[in-house]
Order: sequence, then C-alpha cells, then structure tokens
Amino acid sequence: MRLTQKKIEEIMISVVGEEGLPLVKELGAKDNISEFDLADKVKKDIKIVRKMLYLLYNHNLVSFTRKKDKQKGWYIYYWTLLPDSIRFSYIKKKKELLERLKKRLDEETQEIFFVCTNNCVRLNFDQGMDFEFRCPECGELISQDENKKTTEHLKKKTEEIEKEIGQLIQQRTERRKKVNEKKTEVETKKRASKKNKPKAVKNKVPKKNKVVKQKTKKLTIKKSTVKKKTVKSKKSKK
Ligand SMILES: [Zn+2]
Repeated sequence: MRLTQKKIEEIMISVVGEEGLPLVKELGAKDNISEFDLADKVKKDIKIVRKMLYLLYNHNLVSFTRKKDKQKGWYIYYWTLLPDSIRFSYIKKKKELLERLKKRLDEETQEIFFVCTNNCVRLNFDQGMDFEFRCPECGELISQDENKKTTEHLKKKTEEIEKEIGQLIQQRTERRKKVNEKKTEVETKKRASKKNKPKAVKNKVPKKNKVVKQKTKKLTIKKSTVKKKTVKSKKSKK
C-alpha cells in the first residue's frame, strides 16, 4: 500500500501531537536512528523526545533496538518506523470513521429534524415534541430541517472512504500474497524437487538432491557397520 508521507505523518501526529512533527519527519527519513541523533536533529531535550518515542511505541508505530555504549556504560536506543503497523492503524481509523458516518447517515435518512430559525438548536422529532416544537433556547417555533445537503455530503464522504478502504485492503492482500509467494518459493527450493516444479528451479534442485542423497548413503553405510539398530530406527522415521 502506498501510504503517502502525509498520511503517515497524520497518523503519528494523532499520537504525539503537532509538536512531534519534526521528530516524525526524522523517523521517516532513516531506520535505526539513535535517540540522541533524533534529539539533536529536532533540537529538543532528550527527555521530551523519549516521551514521544515511547508514545509511538505504545501505539506500535515504531520499534527499537538497543546497544550498550561501551564507554558510558548505558544503553542507547535506536528507533525505526513500522510501516505495516502504521498502515493497519490507518485502515482501522478509517473503518471507525466510516461506521460513524454510516450511523449519521442512517439517522439523517430515517429521522426528521427540526431547527430553530435563529439557529440555536437542531432537534429530532421526539425532542421537538418534548419542547412542543418551540426552541428551548429562544422560544421561537422550530421548523423541519432540509437535510438533503447533509445526507448528500454524508453519502459522498461514506463512498469515498469505502473506496479508499477497499483499495488499501486490496493492496494489503497483494502485498501479503507477494510475501507468501516468496516464502513458498524459498520453502520449495529448500524441500528439493518432487513434481510440478517451475523449470528454473528444476535445473537447480536435482543437483542438490544428489549431493544430499550421497551423503545420507555414506552415513548409513558407516552406521550400519557400527550398529544395525540405529539404521532401523532411522528408516522407520522416514
Ligand atoms: Zn432559538
């Protein structure tokens, strides 16, 4: 998924606040950056920087490794952004927003609302009835709200977000598929060839296979001369 730099920053700032923007930018520029370098670059006290880093860490947006400083005897922490977690967090937030919008849209399309001509309040039917269709603030009669604009806006927003989430999830699926394909590729290579192998792999694997077999033969011969039982138990395992 191509999460833009801006979106990544948006997510991280929702955790550390606007003042964390310089730190977020530095984290985005380099992996495994030491907290002292970070503090230098954003010109902030190391304590403030650490606090922000731990906040991000608690939200699973960054990870760290630590190394002992041999001269000073303390640990230095090196921080790295976690793009997968940031993506996950982003999709989660969008889904929550979508739920809220859908709920609002439901309310808007199912309920009738009343507004005061002086714009003091906006009430649903039950609330309006409670106040005998007069504004509880100024006493003016309230009238039915034309909520077409609101519902249209909500609909548009909802569709936009649904589309975005769909794209993000599709991209995630594709990315995972690629990772899995790589994994299976490595595993099949390891496992030596049986059937249905791609040609490129076929050429390589049989050689390996021969070598392995030869080795096991030699071993078996050696062992069989020493102890017959060991060979038996080994064979039965296979
Ligand atoms: Zn009013």
